[in-house]
Amino acid sequence: MKILVWNEYRHECKDEKVHDIYPDGIHNTIAAFLRADGHEVLTATLPEENCGLSEALLDSVDVLIWWGHMCHGEVPDAVAALVQKKVLEGMGFIALHSAHHSKPFKLLMGTSCNLSWREDGDYELLWAAKPSHPIAQGIDRYFKIAHEETYGEPFDIPEPDETVFISSYAGGEVFRAGLCFYRGNGRIFYFQPGHETYPIYHDENVQRVIKNAVLWAKPTYRAPLECPHVKKITL
Ligand code: ZN
Repeated sequence: MKILVWNEYRHECKDEKVHDIYPDGIHNTIAAFLRADGHEVLTATLPEENCGLSEALLDSVDVLIWWGHMCHGEVPDAVAALVQKKVLEGMGFIALHSAHHSKPFKLLMGTSCNLSWREDGDYELLWAAKPSHPIAQGIDRYFKIAHEETYGEPFDIPEPDETVFISSYAGGEVFRAGLCFYRGNGRIFYFQPGHETYPIYHDENVQRVIKNAVLWAKPTYRAPLECPHVKKITL
């Protein structure tokens, strides 16, 4: 499989604490554990021309992973529209953590994608709500992340097609944390963990879920959906 990991790559360059956790950027940490699984993995970042994205590049990859937070507004609308188009044609798309507010995810959802949040470094428990789902394989009933930003309901999204993980937090909040959506020919997975000031993408269980998700999101059929005017069939 060929995977593209996109990262805005701003926190790691500005904040020493984040840089210490991800010296080569979040994108390269994610790329490394996916390469260890035998995938071909490319990376792209916001500072590159056109965000490092082109139609030819997106046509060549099976799955696009997206991490963004403070620079959603710097992604040109045309780039977001291109990602949306490619997902509708069949490219897999995985939105991580604060990518709930990224332009491509919001285009694909059609809602504000707002959620409740607080940042106290509380623990998070991720419960496998659908243990039979391919994305939950290798995960026990739940796994714990020692410190994470708290995301809570309400989460303003359309009803997910499948809810794979539900999170609970030290403050009693709950959140739909691992969600599958089908849009056109494409598959989308939203996954909550990944606040930049904690070593979330070094966590073995988080890596397991992302590894499972890229396999699940791999295109099975990839083409623009044709809905032509047709002649009556003669039987
Ligand atoms: Zn965050």
